[in-house]
Amino acid sequence: MFDTVLIANRGEIALRIQRGCRRLGLACVQAHSEADRDAAYVRLADAAVCVGPAPAADSYLNKEALLLAARASGAGAIHPGYGFLSENGDFARLVEEEGLVFIGPPADAIALMGDKISAKRAMIEAGVPCVPGYEGDLPPGAHALEIARSIGFPVIVKAAGGGGGRGMRVVRAEAELLSAVATTREEAARAFGNSTVYLERFLERPRHVEIQVVADGQGNAAWIGARDCSVQRRHQKIIEEAPAPDVPTQLLEEVGARCVAACRAMGYRGAGTFEFLYDEGALFFIEMNTRLQVEHTVTEMVSGLDIVELQLRIARGERLPFAQDDVRLSGHAIECRINAEDPRTFLPSAGRIGLWHAPGGPGVRVDTHVVSGYTVPQHYDSMIAKIITHGATRAEAIARMQAAFAECVVEGIRTNIPLHRELLADPDFAAGGVSIHFLERRGTALPA
Ligand code: ADP
Repeated sequence: MFDTVLIANRGEIALRIQRGCRRLGLACVQAHSEADRDAAYVRLADAAVCVGPAPAADSYLNKEALLLAARASGAGAIHPGYGFLSENGDFARLVEEEGLVFIGPPADAIALMGDKISAKRAMIEAGVPCVPGYEGDLPPGAHALEIARSIGFPVIVKAAGGGGGRGMRVVRAEAELLSAVATTREEAARAFGNSTVYLERFLERPRHVEIQVVADGQGNAAWIGARDCSVQRRHQKIIEEAPAPDVPTQLLEEVGARCVAACRAMGYRGAGTFEFLYDEGALFFIEMNTRLQVEHTVTEMVSGLDIVELQLRIARGERLPFAQDDVRLSGHAIECRINAEDPRTFLPSAGRIGLWHAPGGPGVRVDTHVVSGYTVPQHYDSMIAKIITHGATRAEAIARMQAAFAECVVEGIRTNIPLHRELLADPDFAAGGVSIHFLERRGTALPA
C-alpha cells in the first residue's frame, strides 16, 4: 500500500491534505506551479515538484505533468483536493492505469455522476428524491413544449455536462422555451463539448442543503449529517453551516439512508456529497460532488470526524472505521469563506498581504495557507482562508464568528470580511434558513 501521496492541488486545501497525511504518518509531495513555488505550505511538505507555469491549464490541470511528478517522486497515490482535476473521470482512469491510487471514487462513479442526466437516473433508481423533470435529451419543437407543460412552468433548461453554475437557463413562459433550449444547447456544446440538455421544474425560493457521505467500496457506507450552504454569491457558496437549520430529522434520516443505498449501488468509494434543493419541506436532489468539499470542515466540527483522514484510510484499503449508528453530531458549526475580492463588486483583489493575523480561541478553527507577506496570485480562485466556529448552539457559533472577525487582520488587499460581518448581523440570517437568493436580494449597505 502507498506511503507517499502527491497533492495535486494548491492553497488551503493542499495544506489541509498535508495535515491528514502527517496524521497518518504518510509522506506528502506537494505539486505546485511556478506562481506557488515560494508559498510557505509548499515548504512544509516532505518534497515539492513544480508541474508547470502559473496558468492552471499548464500546471494543476496538466495530467501528464502530474503523473510524471508522482512517478518521479515515488508517490503511490494522488489526492486531487477540490476543483481542478478532482472530478475528472479521465484523470482518475489515467491514475488507475498508471498503477497509482486515485484518492476518490472509481473513475466509473465519477463519470456516472459527472453527467447530470445519468446521475439523476441513478438517484431515481435508488429512491433519492429528485427535482421533477425530464431526464433525457430534450426532443425538438412541439415535443419539448409538451414535456415542459407537463412539468409545469417555470422550468429550468440544464446542460447534462454543465457545472460551476454554468449551462442553465430559467424559462417562465411557453413562448421562450424553444429559443432557451437552442441557446443552452449551443453554449453547452462550446463549453462542455456535450450539447445534451434536459428540463427540471424551477424552484423559486429553495435552500441549498447537502448530505455528506463516506463509503469504503467494500459495502460499508454512512452519511454524516447535513449542511446548509444557501448564502451564495453568483452561485458560489460563501457561508456554510452544519446542521441545516430546521430541516426535519426524520426527512434527513430517510434521504440520508437513500444516499447511502445509492453509494452502495454504484460501488462508491471515498467521501462525497449529495446536493439538494430544500423547498416547502421537501428535499430534491440536484447533483452529486464526487470529492472533498470546501465546506467539509463544518461536518468535521459537529461530528468530530476527520474526513481527509477517512479518505486516506479508505484509499489505503481500510474499512470504514464506524457504522451509521456511531455517527454522533453535536452543537453547530459555521464556516465563512474569506475571499480576496471587493466585498461589493466581488471583483478579485490579488496582491501582497502585509500583515495577516488569524483569530483563535475556543471553538475557532482557521484553515488557510496565508502568512504575513504572502502574495495572492491572480491566476486562481480568490478564496484565501476559511474561518470555522463551533458552539453548543447556532447563536453561539455566530457569536464566536463575530468575535473571530473582531480579531482578524488582513492588510494590503481587499477581502469580503466586511460583507461577512454585515451578514452575521442580519436578522434574517440570525433566524436561520434563508433561501439561495438571500444575498443577491438583500444587497449590501457597504459604501462604494
Ligand atoms: P452546477 O453543477 O453548475 O453547480 P447545479 O445543478 O448544482 O449546477 O445547480 C447550481 C445552482 O443552480 C443551484 O445551487 C441552484 O442555485 C440553481 N438551480 C439548479 N437547479 C435548480 C432548480 N431546479 N430550481 C431552482 N434553482 C436551481
